[in-house]
This record gives sequence, structure tokens and C-alpha cells, in this order.
Amino acid sequence: MSGGVRRISVMGSTGSIGLSTLAVVEDANAASGEDDPSYEIVALAAGQNVELLIEQAKKFRPEIALISDETKAETLANALRPLGIDTAAGVAAITEAATRPCDRMVAAIVGIAGLASTYAALEAGNDVALANKESMVCAGPLLKAKARETGAQIVPVDSEHNAMFQVFERPHDIETLILTASGGPFLDRPLSTFDSITPEEAKAHPRWDMGAKICIDSASLMNKSLELIEAAMLFDMPESQIDVVIHPQSIIHSLISYRDGSVLAQLGEPDMRTPIAYALAWPDRRLKTTVTRLDLAKIGQLDFRPVDLEKFPSIRLARNVVNIGRGAPAILNCANEEAVTAFIAGYCAFKDISSVVERALAAFLREESNLPRVETLDDVVQLDAIGRRLATAEIERLA
Ligand code: NDP
Repeated sequence: MSGGVRRISVMGSTGSIGLSTLAVVEDANAASGEDDPSYEIVALAAGQNVELLIEQAKKFRPEIALISDETKAETLANALRPLGIDTAAGVAAITEAATRPCDRMVAAIVGIAGLASTYAALEAGNDVALANKESMVCAGPLLKAKARETGAQIVPVDSEHNAMFQVFERPHDIETLILTASGGPFLDRPLSTFDSITPEEAKAHPRWDMGAKICIDSASLMNKSLELIEAAMLFDMPESQIDVVIHPQSIIHSLISYRDGSVLAQLGEPDMRTPIAYALAWPDRRLKTTVTRLDLAKIGQLDFRPVDLEKFPSIRLARNVVNIGRGAPAILNCANEEAVTAFIAGYCAFKDISSVVERALAAFLREESNLPRVETLDDVVQLDAIGRRLATAEIERLA
């Protein structure tokens, strides 16, 4: 599509992806020529940060601004209603707003909290620019079935999946999806010192500027595990056809190898504005960003190495849950969310994150002789509750 106005909603606008999305929109609108689309905001939604949401709404003038935390409803309404901007609060209101007609809804709420609005958008036939990987991990088949039914598109924003989406062709001729991983802050840290890792160290990602949860997931490589599951769901691939390779510079965002021996990759500076711009503009590439251009001669060298599975056992867990299927990915996801929260709060050690997930998963498989299918959102909600209960029990046992 060229020219005209594109309408987008940003759920999770106050987070790292939300901020990058609004930066992309601002740049695009400033640079927009006659043949370029301009971008209009339909809805902005946040969790807690009402001050930033108000600031964003004053600048971008959405139809509606929403906050999940209902105690902040009045502050939001008082600030924005005089400007003619609708406001609402609570999970149900955000879910409802996701159904407002738009060209793309950016799903950038962190964690399973992003699932309801993502599903609602697809159900309403809105295309989704999907950053919220947790919803694809927990409810991939459900989201894809809904998208098929309504004709809505899911365009991945996660840089690796966005890269593969860009070079994805002829699925039957694909040999391997190759996910690259920076390796996070502890790539070269000896395993013997993992016991003393603090949340601050884990939150300091060497390449990407991201929210706290995904930084910790990147440090444990649980992020790559979630991405492996996300790739299996998005591209309908068995885990045996998905490789993970460490690439510390994060210049190649992922690759696909084909049966003729060709390997197609997407490259760029590690800056989320590129995949976001792609996902907003898809299927064209009309959106110009101010992202630093890649200078390969300056970079000089690209390095690769295998994943150390002893240091980062979560990759093995991801492969297991893809093979088990049904509710297992949802259990892995919510057990991880609980373990990360416990790690940040000081209730468990960094190394415990993957063992909590592994034990919660093992307990789930023992408890559930007939693994539940994931056919409705309620199924996911129930699995989420089970996973959190089992993970909490493990965390308490460790404490
Ligand atoms: P952040 O923690 O920076 O932001 C999370 C956003 O979600 C904030 O706007 C937050 O609002 C909002 N939020 C949290 N809980 C709720 C809730 N219950 N209801 C409504 N909104 C809520 O995360 P990121 O931006 O880093 O990540 C967002 C998603 O994108 C994650 O799923 C992540 O895995 C994925 N992703 C992120 C990448 C990145 O570079 N950051 C890269 C690839 C994927 P508030 O702050 O106001 O509470």
C-alpha cells in the first residue's frame, strides 16, 4: 500500500517496543511524502505508567487511551477527556479496544497479559504486528486458527522471526530455520560464577535496549527458548528443523537454509525500529527509518559459535515442549514468568530459573496423564494457573 493513512493501535505503548513503535511513527509522519502513507493512532494502552501514557496521548492524539491499572482511571480521564480523547481502564477495556478497526495492532504488552488483546484483534480481523512472543508460545495454534478464519495477518516483530518472515519462501523446500542469539550478558561468564548473578547484571543486555523481563530471559537464554517455540508455531516447523547459533554481534537477525544449499539471511543494526517499521509497512517497505545503516567494513567480523547447553539448559527444555505440544509450551512460559518475577524479588537465584521451569513442567506431566488440548482462551487461562501454581511450589521449596 502506498499513500493514504494507516491506522495503528499500540498495546504496551509505554514499554520498550511501544516507545520504539511511536518513534517509528513520528519519524515516518515527519518524512512522509505524497506517495508515503502517514500513520494515525487508534488506541494506546499501558499497564501502570499513566504519566507516560498521558504524555504519549497528548502527542499522538489517539481515539482512545487505556490503562490496565483501574486505580489510575481517573487520572487518565481527567488529563485526556478535556482534549476529546476517550479513556478507559482495565483488562476488558483493553481487549475491547483491540477490536477497533485498524490496519495493524502492535501487540507489545509483556507476558501472557498480552494474549487477550492479541486474540481479540485477530478475531476482529485486525492485522497484528506481534512482539508479544509469550502469546504465540502459549496459544500459537489458537491464534493462527483465528487469523486463518478472519483473514487477519500476523506479522512478527521479534527481530529473529521478522528476519525469517522476510526470507521465508516455499516452506516445503526449507531445510532449517536458524535462530541467532547474542548469547546475552553471561555468554563468557564461567558457569561456576552463575550463583552470584544479580538481577541488575541480568538486566544489562550487551546489544539490545529492552524491558526487564526480556533482558533476564535473554540472559538465561530462555528468550531464545521462547523464540524457538515461537518459530515452531509461526512457521509450522518441527524443532528438529530449528537450529540456534550464537552470534554475539547481533547483525544477522536469523537465517533460513533451503534444500538447494542457499541460506537466506536478514541483516541490520540491532535496533528494533527496523523490524517494527517492516511490520507496520508490510507488505511494502515504504517506511523510512532513521536507524543507523549497516557498515560491514566497519564491523569487520561476524562471529558464530554453538550454544553451551550446560550453561543454558533452557534450549533443551524448549525442544522438549515443542515435541510434547498441547499445554506444555504454556506451562514453560508461565513457570518462567513466575521464576523471573521471583528472581527479581530475590526469592530465587538466577540459576534456579530454568530448574524451576523444568521441575514445574515435570510436575505438570506427572499430574496430567491426558495432556489438555489448547482449543480456547479459557484452556490457556487454566494452564497458566496450573503452571504458576507448580512454579510457585518449586520456588517456595527452593526458598
Ligand atoms: P516492557 O517491559 O518494556 O514493556 C511492557 C509493556 O507492557 C509496557 O507498556 C507495560 O505498561 C505494558 N503492560 C505490562 N503489563 C500489562 C498489562 N497487564 N496490561 C496492559 N499493559 C501491560 O517490555 P518490552 O517492550 O521489552 O517487551 C514487550 C513484548 O515484546 C514482550 O513480549 C517481549 O518479549 C517482546 N519483545 C521485546 C523486544 C524488545 O526489544 N524490547 C524484542 C522482541 C520481542 P507499563 O510500563 O505502563 O506498566
